[in-house]
Amino acid sequence: MTKIIIATNNQNKAQEFADMFNKFNIEIETLKNYPEFHDIPETGSTFEENAKIKAHTVARELKVPVLADDSGLQVDALHGQPGIFSARYAQDHNDAANNAKLLSELGGIKLEDRTAQFVSTLVLAHPEDETKDVIVKGTVKGLIALHPEGDNGFGYDPLFYVPELEKTMAQLSMEDKNQLSHRARALDNLEKNMPDWLN
Ligand code: IMP
Repeated sequence: MTKIIIATNNQNKAQEFADMFNKFNIEIETLKNYPEFHDIPETGSTFEENAKIKAHTVARELKVPVLADDSGLQVDALHGQPGIFSARYAQDHNDAANNAKLLSELGGIKLEDRTAQFVSTLVLAHPEDETKDVIVKGTVKGLIALHPEGDNGFGYDPLFYVPELEKTMAQLSMEDKNQLSHRARALDNLEKNMPDWLN
C-alpha cells in the first residue's frame, strides 16, 4: 500500500483529502504524525510556489510522497488581493479582522462589481524526482457580500456569496460546500491524474 503525507495540520482539509486517497487504497498521514517537523516559511509569490515549497520540503526530508495545498481569496476590484496573504490579510489567522479589512477595502463598491474567486492549488510531490510533480487547481467564483451571513465554514466564507445558490459559503452545510468548493474541484482534478501517477 502506498503512503502519502498531507502537508497540513488542518484536520478538516486532511479529511477531505483522505476520502479521495482512500479510493486508491492509499494510506495517509498528516504533519500531526510528525510533531517535531519544523515550520515551513511560505516565501513564494503564488499559490503554486507556496504549495511546491511545502510539498518538496516535506518530501525531501521524510522521503515519502507528499500532497501540499495553498489556497486563498482573489478579489478582482483589489487586483487579486488578498491572494497569498489571505490568512494574514489584517492579522494572522484572525478571520474577523481579515473579513473586516476586506469589507473596508471594498467600501462604496456595488455588489455586482465585487467579483471574486477562491483558488486552491494542490501539489503532489515525488520524494526523489521533482519533475514528477502533479500540479492541479480548482476555483469557485462568487461575489463579496455587503454584510457577513451564516455561521458555517471558516475564513472568508461568511462574505463569499455564491449567486447560483443565493447563499454565502457560510450558509451552506459542510457537505454542500464540499461539493462545489475550490478544494473539492482541485481534488477532482487530482483524482483524474492519480491512475497515471501511481503507474
Ligand atoms: P491556507 O491554504 O490554509 O493557507 O488558507 C489561506 C487562507 O485562505 C485561509 O486562512 C482563509 O482565510 C482563506 N481560505 C482558504 N480556503 C477558504 C475557504 O474554503 N473558505 C474561506 N476562506 C478560505
